[in-house]
Amino acid sequence: MDAKTGRTAVVTGGGRGIGLAIGRRFAQNGDAVVLLDLDPGVAEAAEKIAEETGVTVKGLTCDVTDGAQVKETFAAIADEFGSVDILINNAGVLRDNLIHKMSEDDWDTVMGVHLKGAYLCAKAAQTYMVPKRYGKIVNLSSTSSLGNRGQLNYSTAKAGLQGFTRTLALDLGKFSINVNCIAPGFIDTEMTRSTAERQGISPDDYKKMKAEKIAIGRVGVPEDVANVANFLASDEASFVNGQIIYVSGGPETRR
Ligand code: NAP
Repeated sequence: MDAKTGRTAVVTGGGRGIGLAIGRRFAQNGDAVVLLDLDPGVAEAAEKIAEETGVTVKGLTCDVTDGAQVKETFAAIADEFGSVDILINNAGVLRDNLIHKMSEDDWDTVMGVHLKGAYLCAKAAQTYMVPKRYGKIVNLSSTSSLGNRGQLNYSTAKAGLQGFTRTLALDLGKFSINVNCIAPGFIDTEMTRSTAERQGISPDDYKKMKAEKIAIGRVGVPEDVANVANFLASDEASFVNGQIIYVSGGPETRR
């Protein structure tokens, strides 16, 4: 079935975790959804959401750091769905290390996925949003943007996405395109589970340890972020632009 809202949402890194939850939330809302991911398993994940919700959900492999691939993928989406109305720049990777052990490759990979990826996808998406005078872009930052030991590359990229959001909001606002940013705290996903394992801690103990430092007394789940993304992409938030919303269970401070 086609989108009930007439909108098409594209979610990068949508194969699992936060991106998958955001895709599901948009589909529940009645938007057609395209999930982009490196992992070909994204097609199956999309099919499952389509069955659950009854709207069109498609999963495509696309590396957000590859300019030609991104351009081609967005053109194919616009051709098939008629528009690109919502873009969620969610794809992310970690290559944590202290500076003396951080390789150039670890630096470039993290900058590439988070910053270049967001730039390439926003550039491709706005091609279809500007003529329609309608668009919603949400970028995923992190509380790590405030500083987090061992995450020099990630923290820098996530802080960069906040500047990217504010400036893109200024560039695209006159075309009725809203650009906002969500900065999550600890969200229970594969990303945080693999961090626990790298540190030799069980994911459950790691979550318990983190929850003790969160005002609301628990760690986040992907749906906590998906609900805020859904609001920011709704027309109820059409006067919210260039904002950074922390979704972290407390008033944000450096962890
Ligand atoms: P995740 O479970 O690791 O999912 C990230 C997804 O991005 C993976 O499916 C990954 O694909 C995909 N991806 C990586 N590089 C890509 C590329 N070049 N092109 C396309 N897709 C790519 O992470 P998550 O926890 O859901 O995080 C989602 C976003 O929220 C990230 O930007 C992350 O930095 C941010 N965030 C997460 C937390 C948290 O606590 N979890 C907190 C703050 C911010 P592969 O599996 O194939 O690599």
